[in-house]
Amino acid sequence: MRKYVIMGVQGSGKGTHSQLLAADLDLVNIGVGDILRWNVQNHTKLGAQIRRTMAAGALVGDDVVEGIVRDRLAQHDWNYGFVIDGFPRSVRQAEFFLESYDIDGVIYLDLPDSEVRRRVMARRLCAGCGMDYSLIDNSPREEGRCDACGGELVPREDDTEEALAVRLREYHQKTNPVLDIFRRKEYVVTIDSRPPKEEVQQTIRARLGLPAYHPPEAGHPAEAASPAGAGHPAEAASPAGAGHPAEADQPAEAAR
Ligand code: AMP
Repeated sequence: MRKYVIMGVQGSGKGTHSQLLAADLDLVNIGVGDILRWNVQNHTKLGAQIRRTMAAGALVGDDVVEGIVRDRLAQHDWNYGFVIDGFPRSVRQAEFFLESYDIDGVIYLDLPDSEVRRRVMARRLCAGCGMDYSLIDNSPREEGRCDACGGELVPREDDTEEALAVRLREYHQKTNPVLDIFRRKEYVVTIDSRPPKEEVQQTIRARLGLPAYHPPEAGHPAEAASPAGAGHPAEAASPAGAGHPAEADQPAEAAR
């Protein structure tokens, strides 16, 4: 059983690296931001509550987020473990998490704010299926169109200069103290996230004593159709690792 947390400011590659780890090691990937975004895109009750907060780049309330994580982990489908991305992001969330689960490591992806800005402004999201793209190193085959479903590629609603400034401030104020808590417990491996993603993934594996990463060959069709190792389009339509369609019928569950 392997249980990891992956941390880093937006654009540092948390989603990409947690998906690569999860796919290879049979871990369940829980992307808290993805679950929240899915609720907004699908106009759930929870989505209506959190939309403005997210668009402004602020953190969603601890109660909401803890409820999502608790419900998701309570599904107990993580036979080989999990990698949780985007949580905890405040001291309270960290305390809640550490009371309930023991973890094997925290992967901290370190990226300077200037590089964060460059990457975040190049991010695009498919309005149809939710697949992520980056115009820096993961462009679609046809400009502005999703490779998987043909949907329109749009910037994330919270990827504006203003929202990014708020997110960076929130991150430094509220999330750095979380790293300090984990560092005191000697869980943290700090990884420079500036090199290409293959190299970063290799470093993560080496530092955690995991099997080496074997990137798919360039131009492999599967790779082209599944940016950032996101899996197949059906998966992208529901929040990362959120499980099954039943979730769609139970927005209130997530809000508890
Ligand atoms: P991300 O996909 O990780 O960039 O997260 C996108 C947005 O979701 C953040 O800017 C927050 O508004 C919200 N969010 C994600 N994870 C958390 C969390 N652990 N606590 C509070 N808000 C969160």
